[in-house]
Amino acid sequence: MPYRGRVAAPDDEGGDPACWSSRVCPECGLFAVEDPPTVCERCGEAIPAPP
Ligand SMILES: [Zn+2]
Repeated sequence: MPYRGRVAAPDDEGGDPACWSSRVCPECGLFAVEDPPTVCERCGEAIPAPP
């Protein structure tokens, strides 16, 4: 049976895709380990809180 390609979500808790997509660093694309607003651990770019 074909394995359905599933996009690997970094964290599947919460269930709201918009929630984790807002954590992605706008500068380098790194996934933030904590809820925004925060700063990227790699490049230091501010990751704003979602609207
Ligand atoms: Zn970054």
